[in-house]
Amino acid sequence: MESNFCCLNESDDLNILISNSSERLQIERTKTLFEEIRASLNNNDEEDRSFWRPVLPWGGVYTIRAGRKAISCIPLYVKVSLKNTCTIDGFLMLLYVILRDNQTFPREVGVFLGREFVEHFLYLMDSYDYTTVKMLWILDRMSKQQYRSVIHQAALEIDLFGNEHENFTKNLKEIMSTMQESLCTNWDCQARFQEFLEKTISINPPNELPQRDPIQSAVDQFFCPKNVLCQEFGCDGLREFSQRVFSHGPPPFIILNMQMWKSEELSYVPYHLALSHYRYSLEGATLFNKEEHHYSAAFQIDGSWMHYDGLRSDNLILLNKPPELLLLSSLVYVRCSDNK
Ligand SMILES: [Zn+2]
Repeated sequence: MESNFCCLNESDDLNILISNSSERLQIERTKTLFEEIRASLNNNDEEDRSFWRPVLPWGGVYTIRAGRKAISCIPLYVKVSLKNTCTIDGFLMLLYVILRDNQTFPREVGVFLGREFVEHFLYLMDSYDYTTVKMLWILDRMSKQQYRSVIHQAALEIDLFGNEHENFTKNLKEIMSTMQESLCTNWDCQARFQEFLEKTISINPPNELPQRDPIQSAVDQFFCPKNVLCQEFGCDGLREFSQRVFSHGPPPFIILNMQMWKSEELSYVPYHLALSHYRYSLEGATLFNKEEHHYSAAFQIDGSWMHYDGLRSDNLILLNKPPELLLLSSLVYVRCSDNK
């Protein structure tokens, strides 16, 4: 069956989803999840290095309370089961930490993803309402082509198996959007002037290793002006590419797609990165385990590194030392506050 039987695809239904979840929560919390995690870092003894409760566990089952508008949906199902959510879980965790750790970022990110989305997202995370957080992402940000959905009796199953850059990074609107112009030296060229827009930052390892800082070099390569032979049919001109610039100014955070890099090329991961005249610092990474086709994430709070894996029972653990990021899917950097 196809997903036209789903009734949870309209924004109306999304609002029901969110308001239902806020009705369910009765405990007023005084601390955000971020503050709880940060506090646990300070009194974590050597024996127990895991956070005291599960954060964003893999999968999830969302139970719809029948009643109100939901009852008009035909067929009415009462459960939504989520599968293979690791393609969004790690990034949702990172996004949460980034937004809570930087006071001005929620407003900035809200410009792209919507203020309501950001507020709901933070509220749900702080309420430990993790399945609803994932539903919010799926319904509000993902397109239907990005996941499989089937109905088993009265339950809808949403399967997010795939690639996290497809399921998460691509759905960040124009946050990381960059632009580069090019002009061909040949006056007869069919398309002399061209504009190239990229919504994500995918970098390739340099041809020759070792280099002092291969990741910074690859980023420089991505942004720098260059001349290449024109690819237009029948043209033998030289195409001159301008410096690449961010379309909407320097984004609050950037995600480098590192899928092309082998582990031996990642023995050095820089903590600071210069991007198109702006300074960024390493906040986290997502890791990919090929054998298990499974994603997890690492991030730092106040210099302490934590590893998040939704499949583990203690799914947030404190690391003794910064992680060796040799199984990378992405690197996540945040803009430094002293940028001018
Ligand atoms: Zn040309």
